[in-house]
Amino acid sequence: MEFDAYRNESGAIALPEDATLVDFVEENVSRANADPEADTLVFRFNDYSKSRQGEQQDLSWSGFGARLHAIAARLQQVASPGDRVAILAPQGLDYVVSFFAAIHAGLISVPLFDPDEPGHKDRLHAVLGDCKPAVILTSSQSAAGVRQLFREVPARERPRVVAVDAIPSELGSSWQKPDLHGSDIAYLQYTSGSTRTPAGVEITHTGVCTNVLQLMFGLGLTDRSKGVTWLPLFHDMGLLCVILPAMAGAFTSIMSPRAFVQRPGRWVRELAAYPEAEGIFAAAPNFAFEHAARRGLPAEGEELDLSHVTSIINGSEPVTPTSIRAFQEAFTPYGLSDTVVKPSYGMAEATLFVSSPEQHAAPVIVHVDRNSLNEGRFEIIDAADVEGNSEAIPQVACGYIAPSQWAVIVDPELDDDGEHTGNGRELPDGSVGEIWLHGANIGQAYWKRPDESRATFDNRLVSRLSENSHAEREFGDVPADAGWLRTGDFGVYHDGQIYITGRVKDLVIVDGRNHYPQDLEATAQLASEALRPNFVAAFSVPANQLPPEARNGLDVDPGDGSETLVLVAERAPGAGKADPAPVADAVRKAISEAHGVHAQDVLLVPAGSIPRTSSGKIARRATRQEYITGTLRGGYQQTAFPDLDE
Ligand code: ATP
Ligand code: MG
Repeated sequence: MEFDAYRNESGAIALPEDATLVDFVEENVSRANADPEADTLVFRFNDYSKSRQGEQQDLSWSGFGARLHAIAARLQQVASPGDRVAILAPQGLDYVVSFFAAIHAGLISVPLFDPDEPGHKDRLHAVLGDCKPAVILTSSQSAAGVRQLFREVPARERPRVVAVDAIPSELGSSWQKPDLHGSDIAYLQYTSGSTRTPAGVEITHTGVCTNVLQLMFGLGLTDRSKGVTWLPLFHDMGLLCVILPAMAGAFTSIMSPRAFVQRPGRWVRELAAYPEAEGIFAAAPNFAFEHAARRGLPAEGEELDLSHVTSIINGSEPVTPTSIRAFQEAFTPYGLSDTVVKPSYGMAEATLFVSSPEQHAAPVIVHVDRNSLNEGRFEIIDAADVEGNSEAIPQVACGYIAPSQWAVIVDPELDDDGEHTGNGRELPDGSVGEIWLHGANIGQAYWKRPDESRATFDNRLVSRLSENSHAEREFGDVPADAGWLRTGDFGVYHDGQIYITGRVKDLVIVDGRNHYPQDLEATAQLASEALRPNFVAAFSVPANQLPPEARNGLDVDPGDGSETLVLVAERAPGAGKADPAPVADAVRKAISEAHGVHAQDVLLVPAGSIPRTSSGKIARRATRQEYITGTLRGGYQQTAFPDLDE
């Protein structure tokens, strides 16, 4: 497929009007059906659940088409336009085929979790209650477990559960291509739930087709590129890793998150397995790079050639220089180019992809002054002055905004209650503010949340910079009355690239000064080895809501709502019985020295106590809530995402 046809001279994305994902996939399937030579593989699933070596399950384009049509035909018999079809299946080909089949039936696909993975139950019920699917697609192996989920629901209200592997292929001949428009919803992408109960973003056909092209042009991918992914398919980054090949006529190799976490070398070897490809791409959150560097090296004497890997997105969480460096140092001896790691920014509300560095550029890391950053200014510290400077903190550039997408930095003015008003004034480069986005890839709303949708997706930019406004780009200007998405993230432009400094909702404000939680957490982490790496949460708690045992002699007036700093940290392996007092003292001292703020409470909890999202992100607000209500101290086990030190 010639992708340059979808880009005009100025670099803008030019999709045919009313193009849908169904059109793109059908075109690829028809080509394969007409010409056996074009009938290559679209997906491979490496199943490590039964054996260590794994078993390959392959799907060709014609096989994909046959299964899609059969399942879509079945859905057309039992559901009506507008109905939601939830996917609740283990990571694998049944999941992938089901996701596309719901869209092929003209319905709204809702990619959800593996019902057999423990730890998702609460979130799953919340999300099912929100989208109220008419049908659930699963595999025969998981059908009983899925039915169990609904045993308390009255029979009339239960969704129909369909095992997709039991549907005969012959049914495919009755599939009717649905009459769809670009503005119809293709699927609901639930957010991760880092700061709230996950919200379902309505992703239209135009939105997803645009974002796949933005990703391809942003990373320089073609239909001859190949992807390798272990990301959960319900997560936006995991999902795009399978939508891209389906739309572009390319190929992706899939494994489960557990297969990766247990033996990251599987992912690394798979990245090297396709030397014939015109570029190998992948995506993973920050922790995975360090994990692969530490535990994914080949055995002594084993061959590994990573020279064909072109880009691995590091996104969905803050990107750290240590993780990039560890990955590069581990794999440079195996041919990995220093331009492969792509620190990138994205979110469910934008379908996925917002920004990434240029194709042939190495990651850019700068150091900035902590105090200025906390006050909203990006003050670069010269490389020569970084060494030994405790005020110099590293920031990783997340690249350039994708074609046909616009990102402006907006004044994060706070009102008297400390609430962020987002007054809609664009700030110049070097000033930190809230990132607002515009583009055809932005979702249209949150499913069934009209108020939150309006507040999030429909904002006006009241003033833009007279010069170098980021609402104006070479391929077009955003109209003055256009709607903008408020991302809830703080960011800043420097030298044309965007830097993400942290979430608005997670910012810690104590004594009128701002602190980024990840900065406080990093300091705490370095202060004591008793803290489990990456499992620390910093947040503020009003003095009068501190639990009695956390007051440490502080005489709290019941009316004193002033914010105090609290850190909750899981115990590292081997530190299960460590005396908490000296650990807390060490952390408090380090925080006070580096950030000039007193940590009112430093609480050590058992591994597995800090709430996380289904994609493994720390949920600071939920941690704070449980800290205040005292439920954190129970030390329940969080098993939603396989643990690295399991
Ligand atoms: P919820 O919106 O439900 O609270 P979430 O924001 O984590 O959860 P996603 O849409 O999956 O849900 O994640 C997008 C968010 O992840 C971004 O808004 C941003 O806060 C964070 N993020 C993504 N990429 C980066 C990055 N490169 N650096 C820092 N943060 C990032
Ligand atoms: Mg979010």
